[in-house]
Amino acid sequence: MAGEKEIKLSDVITEDECSEPGKKPKQMPWIMVGMCEGCTDCSDACPQKGIKLVNMDRKMPNAWLVEFRACTGCGKCAKACIWGAIQMTSFVDWALERYEKYEGGPYPSKYDD
Ligand code: SF4
Ligand code: SF4
Repeated sequence: MAGEKEIKLSDVITEDECSEPGKKPKQMPWIMVGMCEGCTDCSDACPQKGIKLVNMDRKMPNAWLVEFRACTGCGKCAKACIWGAIQMTSFVDWALERYEKYEGGPYPSKYDD
């Protein structure tokens, strides 16, 4: 709309929000596995090497925040995902609870013995 500032993802996610490694971040990635295409761009972009592709009994391995305690909330994973499968959330406690509950991926795997 005329006169309105276009809001870009880079405006919403700022690296100023980044916490020190080991401290609770102000925001965390919320990965929507059903939208993930398994491209690895997010895991390649993560400076903490926190995101891995794990087998969740879907057609291909999918991204999951396995090393969630190392996440600084930098948002690089969400920026890297062209599929929109990662959104940053400020509901950090919920995100931590989710990653703790499903450490290694939210679905049982037949292949990761
Ligand atoms: S960048 Fe997006 S589509 Fe690619 S592996 Fe990560 S979450 Fe999945
Ligand atoms: S926000 Fe994403 S890229 Fe940044 S440390 Fe956490 S998982 Fe890695």
